[in-house]
Parts: sequence; structure tokens; C-alpha cells
Amino acid sequence: MDNNISNEAKAFLSKSQYGQYIGGEWFPQVGEQTLAITNPATEELIAEVGIADKSQVDQAVSAAHEAFKNKWTALRPADREKLLLKFAHKLEEQADIIAEILTTENGKLLSHAKGEIIGAANTFRYYAGWATKIEGETLDLSLKQKPGKQNFAFIKREPVGVVAAIVPWNFPISIAAWKLAPLLAAGCTVVLKPSEVTPLSTLYMAQLFNEVGFPPGVVNIITGDGATGAALTTHPKVNKITFTGSTEVGKMIGKSAMEDLKEVSLELGGKSPGIIFEDADLKAAARGIALGIFRNGGQVCVAGSRVYIQRKIYDNMVADIAAEGVKLNISDGFDKSADLGPLVSKSHLSSVQSYIEQGINEGAELVSGGKRPSGKGYYLEPTIFSVPDNSKTIVSEEIFGPVLVAVPFDTMEEALQMANDSKYGLSSTVWTKDISKALTCVNALDAGWVFVNAPARSDPSMPVGGNKQSGIGRELGKAGVYNYTKMKSVNIVF
Ligand code: NAD
Repeated sequence: MDNNISNEAKAFLSKSQYGQYIGGEWFPQVGEQTLAITNPATEELIAEVGIADKSQVDQAVSAAHEAFKNKWTALRPADREKLLLKFAHKLEEQADIIAEILTTENGKLLSHAKGEIIGAANTFRYYAGWATKIEGETLDLSLKQKPGKQNFAFIKREPVGVVAAIVPWNFPISIAAWKLAPLLAAGCTVVLKPSEVTPLSTLYMAQLFNEVGFPPGVVNIITGDGATGAALTTHPKVNKITFTGSTEVGKMIGKSAMEDLKEVSLELGGKSPGIIFEDADLKAAARGIALGIFRNGGQVCVAGSRVYIQRKIYDNMVADIAAEGVKLNISDGFDKSADLGPLVSKSHLSSVQSYIEQGINEGAELVSGGKRPSGKGYYLEPTIFSVPDNSKTIVSEEIFGPVLVAVPFDTMEEALQMANDSKYGLSSTVWTKDISKALTCVNALDAGWVFVNAPARSDPSMPVGGNKQSGIGRELGKAGVYNYTKMKSVNIVF
């Protein structure tokens, strides 16, 4: 364990047992099996975490159901707002400790981990305001054919009920906040399952809900693997599923949700393109593209993993982006001089490495990187390939690592055709000084997000989500909170 971390984080990481947080209390591990949590920078085992079995999943959903009926919806929206604001404040207060736990289990840079916690606090603050602003509609439907009869009609928005929230390992706290903050503002209760790879920071966060006074059962956090997730999402008392993770698992969850006709929103994988035109600010584009793929080791759903570069500037741009990658300092996330930490796990590292091998075997030109530095830790060099078109596997599959594939183009039509030639449609970037070119691309790109002259980054007020196989629905913004409501049409005839 890193000696520089706070006593509070050390104490939390040295626990012998991490139970399930249900109904405001901690329940110990029931079965023999546990999740082994590893520090990806040192490859050391840091904790063993419980796997909730079916009975604990049922206990958690029942607690959420009871809290939904009798506690959370009994509060005034303004009281929910107050609690969400208190929680935002608490997160900020504890940001250093949570960041240390997050860096230890995930490997990301400590400064990024801290930014993630502060960003989560901002998400809670943003949605605190929405608790009092959820509105319905009124309509004039007077019964004209029956003089004297009137029909007062209105549409009410009600919380959907108990939500099952499933979170991946790349941004455990941000993505949990994207789900928790809006659903709590809308009046729903929740059972949240963090990834089996990074549950510790979320477990630390769980106790803060108690501390700021959330009624027991409103937020429940259970740990486990895919089987725990499946027991949760298929539980009959769950009214809505919100899932962020791979397209493969998302499709399975979507299919099983349809069995019971549960509401479902899915935030899935991506293979997001960038397009650089020759008139762009080329220095900013090289830096932005490098940041967009190498930040967090490319383990970002919106990572710009394909870049289309106009032919005249292609060779120089590829060299400049490669130079941005080469100068990154690869080191432990606790090292203040680090620019790039390890990948999250051994199995994820070997999956990324196997794509690099496949690229080389398929004849893609390896421009830079591709190797592992010596020593402990799941580190991998920033890697750039150059290919003539979209035909190779490394251009079509999500790699989810620091691996960029560059492709040349001649015309805007060709660039757009190749950018949209993907089963995914999550994010995209366009680099040009010509506003009409930028707007043409904004309109033509089949993606949930388009950034012009900047790499992708989220803001609580802007909806995020994907087209095609990148998902169903949107999180954040107004859409994020209305997602957790259902409409009731009411007619009063008098
Ligand atoms: P994953 O799909 O393997 O796992 C995600 C979560 O689902 C984990 O908590 C896991 O335990 C759970 N799970 C696995 N099988 C399940 C099942 N059958 N039923 C219910 N839950 C189950 O994804 P990951 O490897 O943790 O994360 C990486 C993926 O997430 C990438 O594909 C990335 O693009 C995607 N992602 C998407 C977004 C977005 O906003 N679109 C954001 C972050 C990550």
C-alpha cells in the first residue's frame, strides 16, 4: 500500500471484510466466494470483497422498495434537494480520501481521481436543483359535444420506483453519480452494483449517505460479479434498469428487461472518430487527439480511438500525435509526475495487447508504442497505428486502451462516410476553423456527442449517450432526471 496516502484511506483499505450496504446497515459476506481486488500499479492484492448472493440481492431490493413506498416519496422535493446538496458537500469534503482509494483500486492518476470526485459532487449539486423542478402539463380537453361538461386534463410525472443501477470500472464514482443524483432527485430509490474490479471507492461512498441523513433503504449498494448483476436486474420488484458497460452485456440486459417489460437505459461501448481538416489549428488538434485517446489509458467510453486526417497533412499530424504520446510519463497514479497510469487489470491489459498483435498481424503500420515498460504494473505504452482505410479489426472493434488508429482521407464526404461506418455511435470530434465545415459534420455525424475543436468531456447539464450499438437513452441534463419519471394522464370530467 502507498505510504503517502491518508490514515483514513489506509484504515478503509486495511479492513478485513467489506459487507453489503442494505437499508442503511452493513451486512457481512454470506458465502465462501469473494472478489479479489488488486492494485494495478503494484499487482498486489489489496482487498477481498463480498459477493451478494440471491438472498442479499432480494434483501437490498426489498429495502429499496420499502423506502420508495414509505420514506423517499413521503419527503417534499425540497427536502430531497437539501439531502442531495448535503451529499455533494460531503463528497467534496471527503474527496482526497475517496480519490486515494480510487487510485489504489483503479490505477488512474490521483489528480484525475480527485477531479472525478469533485465532478460527482457537481452532478449531485446540479440534480439537487432538479428535485423541485419536475413539472407536468395541463390541457384544455373540454367536452364540446356535451355542453356544460368540462374535462380538466393534466399529465403528472411520477418516479418510476426502484432502480437497479449497474456501473463499470473506468469511472466508478462519476458514473454512479450520473445515475444516483437524477434518480434520487426524481424520487426513486436504488440498488447500485459497482464493478467487481473497482468496488472499494463506491463502498466508501456508501457510508456517506448515512452520515448526511438519507433515510435507510433509499440507497443500497451491493457488490458482486455478473451473476449478482443479473440477479439484481431480473428481480421482479425492480422497475427500471440503468446500465453502463460493454455492448455485449448491455444487449443481454436489454433482452432480459424485455422479458418483464422493465424500463431500461443502456450506456455502452464506442469507437469514436475524430476528423482533422487541413485548415485546423494543427497543434491544438494533435494535443486534443492525443489527450482524447491517452487520458485514463484510453479506458474512456468516449475515447477518440479512430482519427481521420486530411491527406496533405497526414504524415506530419501522425508524427505530431505520436510525439504527444511519447512524451507522456508512464508511472503509478500516486506519482505526481505521472501522465499515464496502468490499465485496470491483468486481463484487460492482455485483451488490449491482443488487439495490438492482431493489428500487426493484419498488416497495420505500427507508428509508435505497442510495448510494455519493464517491471511490475499493468502498464502499456501509448500506441498509434496507421492504416489506409476502415478494413482492419483495430478500426472497427472497441479496444478500450491507449491505442489510436489513424486513417487518411481526401474529401469531407469520404471522412464522414468512414467516420459513420461503425456499429457504434457514441462520440466524435471535428477539428477545423471553417464553421460551415464544422456544422456540416455536426449534422452528418451519427453520434450522441459531437465536439468541435476539443476532445470530449462531460458536463452535468449536457445529455450524454449513444446512437446505434452505443446505447439506448441519455444520461445527464434534463433528460437525465426525466428518465426516472413516468407519465400519468389524468382526466377530471365535471
Ligand atoms: P462490463 O459490461 O463487463 O461490466 C459492467 C458492469 O456490468 C459490471 O458491474 C459487471 O459486474 C456487470 N455485469 C456483467 N454481466 C452482467 C449481467 N449479465 N447482468 C448484469 N450485470 C452484469 O463492462 P466493463 O468492462 O466494466 O466496462 C467497460 C465497458 O463499459 C466498455 O465497453 C465501455 O465503452 C463501456 N462504458 C460505456 C460508457 C457510456 O457512457 N456509454 C461509460 C463507461 C464505460
